[in-house]
Amino acid sequence: MKYIGAHVSAAGGVENAPLRAHQIGATAFALFTKNQRQWAAKPLTPQSIELFKARCEEYGYGAGQILPHDSYLINLGHPDIDQRQKSLDAFIDELQRCAQLGIDRLNFHPGSHLRQISEEQCLDLIAESLNFALDQTEGVIAVLENTAGQGSNLGYQHEQLAHIIDKVEDKSRIGVCLDTCHAYAGGYDLKNDYVGFIQDFIDVVGLEYLKGMHLNDSKAKLGQRLDRHHSLGQGEIGWSCFAQLMQDTRIDNIPMTLETIDPEIWPQEIAELKRLSGYSVEI
Ligand SMILES: [Zn+2]
Ligand SMILES: [Zn+2]
Repeated sequence: MKYIGAHVSAAGGVENAPLRAHQIGATAFALFTKNQRQWAAKPLTPQSIELFKARCEEYGYGAGQILPHDSYLINLGHPDIDQRQKSLDAFIDELQRCAQLGIDRLNFHPGSHLRQISEEQCLDLIAESLNFALDQTEGVIAVLENTAGQGSNLGYQHEQLAHIIDKVEDKSRIGVCLDTCHAYAGGYDLKNDYVGFIQDFIDVVGLEYLKGMHLNDSKAKLGQRLDRHHSLGQGEIGWSCFAQLMQDTRIDNIPMTLETIDPEIWPQEIAELKRLSGYSVEI
């Protein structure tokens, strides 16, 4: 089964996210469980948690259909120990918020070396941070997102994701979310060679680690290392890659969410993806 949705707004409280997802015909969704541009966040209230869970149940969103995204400020591979600790504290808080909401996975960008340390040193620091965070929490899988490799962001090559996974002690709590826009901008030609792209992921990382996908077209060209999303079919990737993905039965039962630039057409994008996957379309 393909679970398809979008990164919906949690404005007014996390409990509004499942409602908004339902309204656009989504069978999966992503959200921020706190303001993504601020460090501090108020704890989730018991009422908010209860309503979030009740609505997920009402609209049929199981734990494996929801993939929250953490704050953009967090850098688990920060070269400065104090800054890294600040990120680690915030990341642990994000994992705990997921656990409170009954969500089993949390998506995050691996980290950035800020041109102060080597790529390898940064990847090792990310793994070290993850081992600490996973040890302090329970039940939530940390899901590394591949990046476009913009600036000094790591995670734009499958080998970098594999390097981190290799050093994480509890393999049951580490996973990957593949963002199609990031992969293309990072240098993987999934427009012309979807099969080769997935095969490389299988060979280098392993499909068992794939815990989610972000479905985005790209304004940036192949290998341009710029993170610029576009609506499906309107960017450099085009519909054919998404059609192949929707028909790829090896990739089932994970949340696949749009982060495309025009929320107005999310219902149509979701309906088209559902149609391509062969399931009946109901909006
Ligand atoms: Zn992301
Ligand atoms: Zn993404």
